[in-house]
This record gives sequence, C-alpha cells and structure tokens, in this order.
Amino acid sequence: MASPTTRQLVVALAGNPNSGKTTLFNALTGSRQHVGNYPGVTVEKKEGHRDFGSYHIRFVDLPGTYSLTAYSLEELVARDFILVDKPDVVVDVVDASNLERNLYLASMFLELGVPLVLAVNMMDVAEARGQVIDLALLAELLGVRAVPVIASRGQGVEELLQAVVEAAREGNPRAVQVQYGGEIESHLAQLTEAVEAEGALAHLPSRWVAIKLLENDEQVRRQVQQCDSSGRLLEAARAARSHLQSITGDDPEVIMAERRYGFVNGACREVITLAQQSRVDWSDKADSFLTNRVLGLPIFFMFMWLMFEGVFRLGAPPMAWLESFFAWLQATARDSLPPGELQSLIADGVIGGVGGVLVFVPNIMLLFLAISLLEDSGYMARAAFVVDRVMHQVGLHGKSFIAMLLGFGCSVPAIMATRSLESRRDRIITILIVPLMSCGARLPVYILLVGAFFPADAAGKVIFSVYVLGVLLALTMAKVFRRFLLPGPPEPFVMELPPYRMPTLRGTLIHMVERGWLYVQKAGTTILAMSVLMWFLLTYPKVAPEPNLAEAGAARRAIEHSYAGRVGAAIEPVLRPLGFDDRIAIALFSGLAAKEIVVSTLGTVFSLEGAEDDTHQLRQALASDPQLSPLKAYALMLFVLIYVPCVATIAVIYRETCSWRWAMFAVGYTTALAWIVAFVVYQGGRLVGLG
Ligand code: GDP
Ligand code: MG
Repeated sequence: MASPTTRQLVVALAGNPNSGKTTLFNALTGSRQHVGNYPGVTVEKKEGHRDFGSYHIRFVDLPGTYSLTAYSLEELVARDFILVDKPDVVVDVVDASNLERNLYLASMFLELGVPLVLAVNMMDVAEARGQVIDLALLAELLGVRAVPVIASRGQGVEELLQAVVEAAREGNPRAVQVQYGGEIESHLAQLTEAVEAEGALAHLPSRWVAIKLLENDEQVRRQVQQCDSSGRLLEAARAARSHLQSITGDDPEVIMAERRYGFVNGACREVITLAQQSRVDWSDKADSFLTNRVLGLPIFFMFMWLMFEGVFRLGAPPMAWLESFFAWLQATARDSLPPGELQSLIADGVIGGVGGVLVFVPNIMLLFLAISLLEDSGYMARAAFVVDRVMHQVGLHGKSFIAMLLGFGCSVPAIMATRSLESRRDRIITILIVPLMSCGARLPVYILLVGAFFPADAAGKVIFSVYVLGVLLALTMAKVFRRFLLPGPPEPFVMELPPYRMPTLRGTLIHMVERGWLYVQKAGTTILAMSVLMWFLLTYPKVAPEPNLAEAGAARRAIEHSYAGRVGAAIEPVLRPLGFDDRIAIALFSGLAAKEIVVSTLGTVFSLEGAEDDTHQLRQALASDPQLSPLKAYALMLFVLIYVPCVATIAVIYRETCSWRWAMFAVGYTTALAWIVAFVVYQGGRLVGLG
C-alpha cells in the first residue's frame, strides 16, 4: 500500500492503432490491470498500475487514434480523457518504423500542452529496415522527452518510467508548436486572446481552443457556445474562417493539416537517416513539381492521357498482326473443314469468339505495363496526394483514389485495396464506385468499337473520354452515396508518400507478361467456354432453310430464331431507347459473366451473319453494318463501362462487405445508371444531329 510519502500519478498511454500500446501497457503494469468501459460509451478502458521509486503510477490505455479531431468515437474518448481527467503525463507510443505518420498525433498533443513523453517503440523494426533515428535530436526538435523502447521485449521500460516521472515533475517547458504561417497565425493570435478573455474556458488550453475553432471542430464549438452566450467568439471564428477561405481558396482545416504534416515531415527528414541510401535528393525536387498545388492536377491528367494514347497507338500494329492471323486461321478452318456444324463451331464459335478477344493481348499488356510503372515508381501515391482535395469535395480522400486507380487494371484487387481505409463508410463508398473505373476487360470493347467507328487519330481521345467519364461518374456517385446513403465526414489521415523508386525493368516486364498470360488463360477458359455456349445458343434451334432468301438475310433469320435471339428479343425493348438492337442485347447479356465476352459474342454473331465472306474482320463488319453508327457505338461503350460489374467483382464486393445487400445494390445501381447515361448520350446526340 502507498506510504505517506508516495506520490500518485495518472499516466495516459496514447498512440496510433498497432503502435504497440497494449504491449507496452502490459510490459509496464504486468498483471496489475483491469478492464472497464469509458463512461457512457462502449469503448474499452484498460487500467493498471506500477510503483516506481516513490511514485504510484496509474496507467490508462487510451483507444488507438491517428489524430485528435472529433471524427470518431475513439478520438473523442481519447481527447476527453486528456481534457477532463487531466492525466499528469501523456505517453505517446509511436511506431519508430512509421515515424512520420505517428508523429502527426504527437503534434496534436503538443498543441494540447500536456506533459508529453514519446515512447518510441518498435526500434527493432526500424533498425531492421536500416533506419537510424536520432532520438536526442527528435527530443530537441519537439522539446519533449523521447525514449527508445522495444515493448515486445520489455526493453526501455525503466528508462520510460524515469522520463515519465521527470515529465510529471518538470513538464515540458520547451515544447514546440506547429506554426501555421503568417495569415493563420495572426488569426490564431486574435482568437487565442478572445478565448483567454472568456473566463469560463479557462480550464482548456487557449491556443488549442483557438485552433479548433478555426478548424470548425464541432465539439469545441458546442463547448464554447455553452459558455459564451453572446456568441462573440463563434462569430469571430466564423469571420476568421471565411477570411482565410477567401485568401487561400481552401478550408483552414485543410491548410492546417498540411502545415502539421509538413512540420512532422520536416522533423522526420532531420532525425531519420537511412543506413542504405534509398531516398535521394531529387525526390524532393520531383515532389515539389509533381505534387504542386497548381501543376499537380494537369500533370496527372497528362500522364493519364499519355497512358491511354500509348496503350492504343503502340498496341495498334501488333493488334493488326494478330487480327490478320486470326482472319487467316478462320479462313483456313472454313476451307479445310466440310461445311456444317463442326465448321461453324470452330470457325465462328471458337476462332471468331476467342480470337476476337485474343487480338487485344498487346493492349492489355501495355495497360498493365503503364499501371505497374505508375505504382512501382511511387507516382500513384503522389496522384492520390494531388487529388486529395478534389476527393474531399465528394466526401472521400486521396487514399480512396489509389483503389480507384488500381481499378483501371481490375476491380477485384482494387476493391481489396480499400482495406487500407480505416472507416467502414469510406470503404463501402469506395467499393461501390470502384467498378465505375474502367477495368482492363472493358478495353477490348472500346478498342473494337473505336477502331470500327472512329478515325485512327481520334481513337485515343475517344477512349480517354470514356475513362474520364467513368471517373467523373464515380466521383458523382461518391457524393450521392455520401449524402444519402452513408453520411458523415471522411476520416482524416496522414498521406504517406513512399520514396520514388526506379521501377526495375525485370520487375515491370515480369508483371506485364504475367498479366498478359492471365488474360490469355482467361480467353482459353472462361471466354472459350462462353463463346462455345453463345455459339450454341445462337445456332440452335435451327430454322428450316428458305431457298428464296439471300445469304445474309437467312443468317439474320437463323439468329432471330435461336435461343439467344429470343433472349435478345426479350431484352431488346428495354434497350431500344438507347439505340441497341437485339444483337447488341445478346452481346450485353453474355457480358454479364465477364466484359470481354461482349466482344467474343459480337465476334460470333457477326461471323455467323457474314459466314460467306471469308476475309472479313469483325471491325469491318461492324463498321459496314447499317444498324450501327458512331453515336450508337459510343453509347454502347458507355453502357459497357457502367453496367453490372462482372461476376468476380460482385463476389469480391460480397466478400469484402460481408453483405449480399451491398453486392446486389452495386448490381442494381450500375445497371440503372448505365441505362440513364446511354439514354442521355444517344437521345441527346440525336437531338443535336449526331446520328
Ligand atoms: P496497439 O494496437 O497499439 O495496442 O498495439 P499492440 O500492443 O496490440 O501491438 C501490435 C503488434 O506489434 C503486436 O503484434 C505486438 O506484438 C507488436 N509489437 C509491439 N511492440 C513491438 C516492438 O517493440 N517490436 C516489435 N517487433 N513488435 C512489437
Ligand atoms: Mg491495443
């Protein structure tokens, strides 16, 4: 029991999730702990104690948070504990191997003016990564004590306790504050003074209250409202906010977060040295250019445009070789097999269907080459950083954009990448919009249609426009979902900028060949099976031959009579307002399994129809079809872009959200949206005389 000379201390353990708080808590308190709840909420509260020297120290394990805004229950609980219970010392557990992100929270504790000790944990991990951290310098830069710890081995615990006791005795008189720059600082100074004049707020740190008022913090506003009945303070804060908004064009909280981030980033650059030099100086220069406030977005769009232009232009010659090869193969099959079922199955079903998809292998490989270059070089993270502010407009943040960019390759890994989002709402919204990012499987459809209906020099731009439209729709839907389905602010986070790396030729090539090979495998399995199935459905039941009908007319009649033709005829009325006939209805229906199958079905339909013409290519057949036009082709591209995610995507949505409701919702909303967009484009285009 405590002797009369024993002093009591209350110490809060704070830190990011997974920084090792609980491990450290256990190392500090051993079995002397118990678990309860914070008053009124279901957040778990763990307490334990430890005697050290003449001190009896009570430890409280706060919920893990990245920040101390009032966005989540955990953050509120942690913040309230510090403001209301006023622990003698806050120990901020920071993960040394992830120092930059972790110090963001520390900068907020500095603002709160609490006696702070940094327990720099996971020193072993940092060391294994070749990072040398100058903790003495860090302590000096921030003006607080910093102790190296390896919680999992119990190392550094005594030293930490020593620092805690000192901090309790002396506080940190030299603690530094983030400086927010001239304009913001002058508003902060005025507000701080006004807060100090308000006696009822004396229990709160005044600069901190001023900062929170500038940031429009909901909870602090409410607290201020209760003490300041004249509303003078809130009015001053509102005026300061709108003044800052008008100068900077941004909300103060955005700029302040940037400054805080810059502060932490600067500190990290000084204290961390890498044993093996992987961060070179030019990366700072590149960053100041690529993530520039003004130039960042145009540069990003230029990269995207180059990517699609490149995929189309560089892919065109090898695609032409493959097309001639499959045309030759088809002709050879017709010549060498006796006319009849087998000839039609091989020539129309297998070669027409699978060949139609295989000709796009070069484009697919180029697309994945571009994506892996973006990702491996570190530019992808910069792009997310650049669009972060745009994303805030729709209630998401830049991190969601990384998943969206990956969606240009394939929705399945893109949806899995949303696991990096902490908030479930942000995650679900991102998952729902990822399928609107045009994946690689849709590219063949565009290239086929663009090649048939648009001049070669316009092709890249038309395809780019489809991709851009997909992105715009995704952003719009995000805003709609945020507004009506999953309201709430996006959770703030520190954007991590990985170092630039020169992608290795070997790695990039391997990646490209792997993706190309996956595509070939898909063509040889799913698409082959679907092509044969579609050939069957398009060929049976047979009609009795009618001698008087011309060849093409007879083929058309045979298709109309077939099973697929009947399905097509049943769907066609719904699609007629979009300008699509029954053949397109059949193709779209078959594309429910995977979007490339739209191409293979069109291949089968048109090679059945044009069976007598040996040398025709699908593109030419489409271009010369009287039922089709560039406008219809464009509406069709958009429909294929938007409608029903493929089966694999639906399955992964289910798996990641654990809910059929969300999976079915994704199916339903995309189909409705596809119809509306295609309708507007087709009918609108006709109104202005485009077809
Ligand atoms: P919390 O979320 O902050 O409570 O983090 P935990 O205490 O649950 O720790 C997260 C993980 O990091 C666990 O697997 C720990 O074993 C591990 N861990 C904690 N401290 C250290 C450390 O100093 N070094 C290493 N290598 N691992 C640690
Ligand atoms: Mg924990």
